[in-house]
Amino acid sequence: MNPELEKKLQACPNLPSPPTVAIQIIQLANQPDTDFQRIIELLSCDPALASKILRIANSPIYPYVKKVENLHQALMVLGLNATISLALSFSLVQSLQSTKGKGLDYNLYWKRALMAGTACQVLGSFCEVDETAELYLAGLLQDLGMLALDQVFPELYLTYTGQQSHHASLISHEERALGLSHGAVGSWLLTQWNFTDRLRLAVAGSDDPSHIPGRDERARFAYCVSLSGKMAEIFLRETDDNYLQTVTRQASTLLQLNSETFLETLEVIKERLPEIAGLFDTTLPTWDDPKVIIENARESLLLRNLQALKQVEELRINTVNMEAQFHNLEETHRYDSLTGTFTRAYLDQALETSFQQAVAKEECLTLIFADLDKFKSVNDTYGHHAGDVVLQSAARLLLSKLRATDMVGRFGGEEFVLILPKATTSGAEFVCERILTAFRETAHEISENPNLIVTISLGIATHTPAKPYTQVADLLQNADESMYHSKIHGGNQATFFHSIMNKQPVSR
Ligand code: GH3
Ligand code: MG
Ligand code: MG
Repeated sequence: MNPELEKKLQACPNLPSPPTVAIQIIQLANQPDTDFQRIIELLSCDPALASKILRIANSPIYPYVKKVENLHQALMVLGLNATISLALSFSLVQSLQSTKGKGLDYNLYWKRALMAGTACQVLGSFCEVDETAELYLAGLLQDLGMLALDQVFPELYLTYTGQQSHHASLISHEERALGLSHGAVGSWLLTQWNFTDRLRLAVAGSDDPSHIPGRDERARFAYCVSLSGKMAEIFLRETDDNYLQTVTRQASTLLQLNSETFLETLEVIKERLPEIAGLFDTTLPTWDDPKVIIENARESLLLRNLQALKQVEELRINTVNMEAQFHNLEETHRYDSLTGTFTRAYLDQALETSFQQAVAKEECLTLIFADLDKFKSVNDTYGHHAGDVVLQSAARLLLSKLRATDMVGRFGGEEFVLILPKATTSGAEFVCERILTAFRETAHEISENPNLIVTISLGIATHTPAKPYTQVADLLQNADESMYHSKIHGGNQATFFHSIMNKQPVSR
């Protein structure tokens, strides 16, 4: 803390201070050998405090069957640490409440403090942070710095024009005016009072949980404290939906509480509030029925869940659309738009895959290179559109003469490549004969000439386990060369590569 401010705080005569009994309790708590007996002796000196400890030990917060009748039993029920924390809570609240406010809304301050204490304890039990009584104390004291600041700088809260229930903007106001917020001041005070490090650090981090270091038990303790203040604010702001959503999100981020569990904690807090109010003083402010607030919260969280569901649905539809787009893209990539056979790009892939498979499985693979005869003259005679129709009908004809596992791709213009997995040379011979016959006998119906016959030239090369190829490009080139052989011999025929293998390649 800045030294000037520290000096001012130290010099302030009205600075909140713990009552004698609280100082003694803290001293006892800091001694490692403190036992039940010494705490009992101390509490017995303050009958009001002792009776409060008894009341809390008998309250539903500590559900024991037997009635607790004396301090000894209360300590057995509550435990040493919890008794110390509770005694401190009661004695501090009692003495601090006698401080008179300057610009701070004290009624609101105490409402918030008591709710936050309760919220903090409940949160702790939901998040398995031990020491719930110490959590209560920390929740209760987290804004202690405001009491000090209000005494040292009487103008500070008087000049704040916003609503004091809006804690975050109040903190911004402090930061603008002093360069720090009340969390730091509260933590400083607790150091002066010899409080535990855990408590001190939690109060220091209460204004902004993002400054809480680490992820250990101590950090979780501090997260509970910071969140408890914000939960108290949910009750104070009543119908502020956005605020509720913000805090619900923080509960999920800081303490991994889902919204359903978070609502449950609000319910438990609501149930505990009257009990806590009774335990403190009759002069304590009463708060409005929190039932309505909880109902609003439930409704608003439900709405948020519905919204989340809607977002999930929108996301799902987007994904489906994207998948459809991707599928379309894939289709465009795969199929030639004119003939419906594979595109050249996809044909190359299919050639490679079929070849790898044939090699791996030691199977035959036959490629047929097919080229329409004198196709240019179709274009020249009947026009380009008629040429397109013939290409489409030729592709259909080719496909109709093949097995389902065979593939046809458009190599370019009026050239097609046929992939026949597992086909041997003799098997391919039948196929070629079927194709040649079909082309000789099938008229391509174009409007200008319903009897147009276009023949086809084929070249065949086969990969067999006995005479294997090392790459598919060679196989394709041999099929092409064979087709060219058919072409130069007048077209309308099939040539098998093995039959021309030993002949001189013909130059094109
Ligand atoms: P050959 O018997 O020697 O194969 O002669 P050809 O006329 O069939 O072959 P050539 O390579 O000389 O001509 C092919 C023609 O195919 C030329 C080109 O305009 C035409 N062509 C290529 N792609 C298309 C197409 O998509 N549509 C149409 N209508 N014609 C095309
Ligand atoms: Mg050609
Ligand atoms: Mg041709």
